[in-house]
Parts: sequence; structure tokens; C-alpha cells
Amino acid sequence: MRGVGKWTVEAARAADDPPKSLAAFSVTPIKPDDGPTPLPWVSFNVGCKSCGHQEFEIASFPIIAPDPSPYYGVASGDTLLRPPHRMKCSCCGSVGTIFDARTDGYDGILNGGCPYESGADGEDFTLRPFKVIVAVTYNIEISELEELASSAQAEIKATDLFDNLSITATCPSGGQPLEFIYECA
Ligand SMILES: [Zn+2]
Repeated sequence: MRGVGKWTVEAARAADDPPKSLAAFSVTPIKPDDGPTPLPWVSFNVGCKSCGHQEFEIASFPIIAPDPSPYYGVASGDTLLRPPHRMKCSCCGSVGTIFDARTDGYDGILNGGCPYESGADGEDFTLRPFKVIVAVTYNIEISELEELASSAQAEIKATDLFDNLSITATCPSGGQPLEFIYECA
């Protein structure tokens, strides 16, 4: 099987058959460097499905944390960029959703949502475009993921059930990078 030895079986599967939740984009797996242990995650370069361009304005639902802040790692007065996250191609303007905590990943699919507050009003796109890498992690064995997927009511596949998702966005013009990390199981 392709990638085994560098990726775990689960990550190699996702490299070949990315999660459905990324389907609005064209995603290309990044081969890991040779290392002593196989990686349980796979990173993808993200491109526009319509035009192939690889820079996006990233949307979120910003909220200023009250005092005391109920948000882990976010001080009162700081801004939390809540999901869901859509991305707009900076070339052709196509828009798609890259992550929705209510419906994506293990908890999103099997448990009614990941434990994150989602926004509904006030969606805000970044002013500048970013190059985006999205990574999904699997800590559950492929046999169990397959069993969960086949016994679920909705039509899902094993690799939809990632237990962590991260979005790493770097600004080619040199601005502040953005990173979102979501535990989904
Ligand atoms: Zn495009």
C-alpha cells in the first residue's frame, strides 16, 4: 500500500481517499519526510477546485471573549475566530467550506458535533489571501473506523472520521500566519 512506513495505514488511506468534508477543494497530499515512526496524520496542500489557484481568503465568525473568558486559551478582550470556516479563492472567487465543527470529523458525524462554539452571524473573510495546508489525524485503527462508517446511518467512509483537523495558513506577502486546530474526537 502506498505510503505505509511513512504514514500509518489510516493516514495513507486518507492520502488516497481524503475526507468528504474537504471535497469543496482540490487537495494534494504532502509526502512526509522519512522518519523512524509513521505519521498518523496527513497534510494536504489546498487548491481551488474551479481554477487550481492556491490562495484563499479565510472566513470565520469572530467574537470578542467576555470577562471572564469562557474560551480555553483565549483571554478576555481577545478575538476568537469561530468556525465554520469557508474559504474564497482569491483568483476566481469560488467559495467552499473547509471545516464545520457541527458536522465534520468523528464527533461531528457520530456525536452531533465537536465541542466548539460555531458562529451563525457576522461571518468575516480575511482581507489578505493565504496559502493553506489542512491536516487530518487518525488515532483510531482503520478496522474500527471502517466498522463505524459502515454501521452509521449516513453514507460515510472511514477517512471522514478524523479525530483532529488543523488549518495552517501563511500569507505570501509576509503577514501574520493563521492557525486553527480542532480536536474532533
Ligand atoms: Zn479559483
